Amino acid sequence: MKEQLLQHPVFKMAAEQFDRSADFLGLTEDVRERCKWPKRLITVTIPVKRDSGETEVFFGYRVQHHLSRGPVKGGLRFHPNVDIGEVAALAMWMNWKCALMGLPFGGGKGGVTCDPRTMSPHELENVTRRFASEMLPFIGPEVDVMAPDMGTNEQTMAWITDVYSTHAGHLVPGIVTGKPVILQGSEGRTAATGHGVAFLAARALKRIGVKHDRATAVVQGFGNVGSHAARTLESYSINVIAVSDVSGAIHNADGLDIETLMQYVKDTGSVKDFPGSESIDPESILTMECDVLMPCALERVITEKNAADLKCKVLAEGANGPTTPNADAIIEKRDDIFLIPDILCNAGGVTVSYFEWVQNLQRFQWSEQEVLSKLDTMLAQAFDKVVNYAKWNKLPNRVAALSLGIKEVADVKSQRGLYP
Ligand code: GLU
Repeated sequence: MKEQLLQHPVFKMAAEQFDRSADFLGLTEDVRERCKWPKRLITVTIPVKRDSGETEVFFGYRVQHHLSRGPVKGGLRFHPNVDIGEVAALAMWMNWKCALMGLPFGGGKGGVTCDPRTMSPHELENVTRRFASEMLPFIGPEVDVMAPDMGTNEQTMAWITDVYSTHAGHLVPGIVTGKPVILQGSEGRTAATGHGVAFLAARALKRIGVKHDRATAVVQGFGNVGSHAARTLESYSINVIAVSDVSGAIHNADGLDIETLMQYVKDTGSVKDFPGSESIDPESILTMECDVLMPCALERVITEKNAADLKCKVLAEGANGPTTPNADAIIEKRDDIFLIPDILCNAGGVTVSYFEWVQNLQRFQWSEQEVLSKLDTMLAQAFDKVVNYAKWNKLPNRVAALSLGIKEVADVKSQRGLYP
């Protein structure tokens, strides 16, 4: 299984990042092995009747990387290319992210290989409900708490809550996070990941001495993360000059009106032909001149092919794993780029998920202001911790962030010892 996982390009990347930090930390071989490999890799089939009347069998996955520090936490992704290797890599990153933020969770991730864009709401509901029921033996508020990720949303979480609660015989709100607020979801959760990405990008700009009202930003990916990141940037007076999604890329040197663009995407389904913008080559968006570049879509978009051509001052990773280790090697040598690594940069989502879980366990609801101010405090603390650790230890920011997270997990594993 180890070899099989390492053959997957995304898992290989997560494993290489882990090895580098484990070397720096000097982890002993036993702790290193226990930290590196996932505790549970679950694969299920999901037979679903499509609207056409035909039955289709989808594959679904859940990887629970480790449970040493609490329930596993992480999103559920619906995407045509998702597979067990990618899910395992994303689960491993969730570990270090939760540990870095001091959240009492291990890392998990789930996925269903399907294309939600070609499925009706009814088909999506059936896939979600059957996946949730296949997961019943493996999940629970103290075991594994899912959340939205690419291709899923609060409606998906409402269906999972319904399946789990129906089987329990009573409402179990703590089974997932990212639920609708009327179903005891948390205020602020939908915007949290994007808000956090923008909040940290602004903090990085301040650190390198770039004034917000003169700054420009480029956002690759305009889904939940990218759109809310752009909106928060706009609220800081940072000009978002280009964005892209699967349909293409748009540009306006004077800044795009994000609120209107979000409404336009809601109405038309994409950023394409947004009035007042010119369309540009989506390939070129990553190498546009700007102060902040935010990759907010899939993994491995910044590679050895384009890393030397980046023209940003801050690289804020809204996506998980957007930069390959080969690209990292190039970026590390460039002292003109300040990197905010994914496990820190997009941690706003899981942090508010933690708040949601706590509110659910306490049967208590916090206000949006309370949520966002607690979130900003925790992100600022984590940012300073990473930047200081990097400075003291002469490490790139990514290695610093990963090392801080991995060390937490390694210490807990060592302290708990090995059973039997
Ligand atoms: N899917 C998000 C992530 O990658 C959020 C996970 C969660 O809230 O549990 O961080």
